[in-house]
Amino acid sequence: MSGMQAVIAVGSNMNNPQRQVRSAMDALASLPATRVLHRSSLYQTPPWGVTDQDDYINAVALIETLLGAHTLLRALQALETSAGRIRSGHWQPRPLDLDIIVYDTVVSTCPELTLPHPRAAQRAFVLVPLLEIAPTIELTGIDSARNLLEHLPAAEVDAVRRLPVASKAN
Ligand code: ATP
Ligand code: CA
Ligand code: CA
Repeated sequence: MSGMQAVIAVGSNMNNPQRQVRSAMDALASLPATRVLHRSSLYQTPPWGVTDQDDYINAVALIETLLGAHTLLRALQALETSAGRIRSGHWQPRPLDLDIIVYDTVVSTCPELTLPHPRAAQRAFVLVPLLEIAPTIELTGIDSARNLLEHLPAAEVDAVRRLPVASKAN
């Protein structure tokens, strides 16, 4: 396959978040014309924006896909819906959130699909897992995870904690 590379951020803080994130990663691999090149470990992170809610489990995946960016977004939204997500607004508790962080080198300011994701460069819970699997990939026109992390407060970076790898029994 010679498709486009994209980075997908996966997050959950409801209904067994670890299971949600793992099954979302599996679901990414099952999207049409798509394969997962790398998946990060799972990370436990404090909530961002609206802080009065449970911790999140976050991870990122690097995929290769023949789907166009908007088709990919619709496919991700269908996965969110099948995980039981009800759209209750930004930064509210949710069983599954799938954001496109970068799609190839596309830059877009369209509100329905902004690329690179407009808040990713400030989010340790995106950049720390991205550092694990793709430290030098550029948030197009911005910078790499490795360089961006140097500008974030150390306390925010340290608050993103890698979970131990699950045993097969889980
Ligand atoms: P944030 O975008 O700050 O992470 P959120 O994930 O809680 O917040 P949602 O409610 O999931 O926000 O999404 C709101 C809208 O954002 C979606 O309907 C979608 O069309 C739009 N959107 C814009 N750019 C992107 C992107 N790069 N990835 C995913 N959704 C995006
Ligand atoms: Ca999000
Ligand atoms: Ca989202």
